[in-house]
Amino acid sequence: MIRTINPSNGELLAEYPAMTAADIEHVLLKTGDAASRWKQCSVGERAGFMNRLAGLLREQNSTHAEMISREMGKPLSQAVAEVEKCAWVCEYYAEHAESFLQPETVDVDGLTGLVTFEPLGVVLGVMPWNFPFWQVFRFASAVMMAGNGIVVKHAPNVTGSAIAIEQLFREAGFPEHLYRTLHIDLEDVNELVGAVIDHPVVKAVSVTGSTGAGIAVASKAGRALKPSVLELGGNDPYIVLEDADLRQAASVCIAARLLNAGQSCIAAKRFLVHASVKKEFEDILVADFSARRMGDPFDPDVTVGPIARRDLRDELHKQVEISRNMGATVLCGGEVPPEKGFFYPPTVVTDVRPGMPVYSEETFGPVATVIGFSDDDEAVSIANDSPYGLGSAVFSADTERARSIAARLEAGNCFINAMVKSDPRLPFGGVKQSGYGRELSSYGLREFVNVKTVYTG
Ligand code: NAP
Repeated sequence: MIRTINPSNGELLAEYPAMTAADIEHVLLKTGDAASRWKQCSVGERAGFMNRLAGLLREQNSTHAEMISREMGKPLSQAVAEVEKCAWVCEYYAEHAESFLQPETVDVDGLTGLVTFEPLGVVLGVMPWNFPFWQVFRFASAVMMAGNGIVVKHAPNVTGSAIAIEQLFREAGFPEHLYRTLHIDLEDVNELVGAVIDHPVVKAVSVTGSTGAGIAVASKAGRALKPSVLELGGNDPYIVLEDADLRQAASVCIAARLLNAGQSCIAAKRFLVHASVKKEFEDILVADFSARRMGDPFDPDVTVGPIARRDLRDELHKQVEISRNMGATVLCGGEVPPEKGFFYPPTVVTDVRPGMPVYSEETFGPVATVIGFSDDDEAVSIANDSPYGLGSAVFSADTERARSIAARLEAGNCFINAMVKSDPRLPFGGVKQSGYGRELSSYGLREFVNVKTVYTG
């Protein structure tokens, strides 16, 4: 049985039956059949379904946003924005997939080589709870427009959202079973996801989640010789140079750390601040973090909701406590509040050294780590001193200087004077332990296709 818990008060929300191996086999065969018909549809026909899906997401936005906030605790306004963004990505691929999938011709010594992009079949998506709709839609919109079918193993704590998403695809008129959810109990995850990857109907897998989940799933995919895309954890550095507009930079940094109560792969996690402005930067952060209203995600004045699960909140606190015991200074927050629910206050930590959890590990919650540096080389070296390489940001009045730092950062993206965001028009993904492959833009659409060469002699 899969149970969902309201993170705002720790109470049971709902119980759902988990699928057995036989249930999953049945779904996979149905999705395989649906995918073999779907690939015959023109891209224009596929776009019609995708646009209908976008329309439904907009019409039903508040229902879905409420489910997201109930299940994982983000403030309702952020859940509304998440559902709207899903409509955007559906429309984006409906509009652009045709051109992204256009065959390319190559002149081969006067003869014609044709490169075509054909669907693979059924793709498995393993998804996290932090953006329960967005993570699925950014994956599914591209994969389906490329002509594939989908089975999704979603995180158990957002099973209500997972069911709502499947229902949306059905209501939009997509062929029955083309998009299916696999309800897998935590205890069976290794065995059953392994069996799904091995199943002949499944041709590829995409994981969005922690590095541990990525390694577990990608090793199975590797053994089965099936391609994978991995969108994993991050420990994004935000570098603030001494010539930056400090107030402006700090306000972007704060937003980038506190969105979704800090539970985002591309949240700002380490603030690397030039020593000459570090104290002033910390003061701005502490003033803002201490004034934040934390609480019920349905209260419009609340900007920081709970952490999605008790174990994750406790793990976050442990990272802060161990760092404190190793000599870090907690400037604000850092205590588990007495309220029911899995809350953790916005926390600023300084005097941080390599090896402390808040330096070396991903903190998945509202904990800002501030680290000083004295010149650009040192900033780059600290930024790259991480097993992760997802997002990064640089703040400076000198764009050329910021770009030259960006070029030296080991990351999948670098945003200058702006917060790292996923945007349908830009490729998204990481390097190092943050994964491989890309989602979004033309790059995302072409991850799950057979790039086929047709040569006419
Ligand atoms: P998680 O614990 O890794 O779970 C993600 C998904 O993977 C869940 O559906 C989980 O199912 C599944 N999973 C875990 N271990 C598995 C295994 N051995 N075999 C098969 N499936 C497995 O991550 P999370 O707590 O949901 O999400 C937070 C993490 O995701 C953070 O590290 C964050 O940075 C990362 N993330 C990355 C991106 C990106 O785009 N790069 C986006 C969002 C989140 P169970 O819960 O049933 O184990």
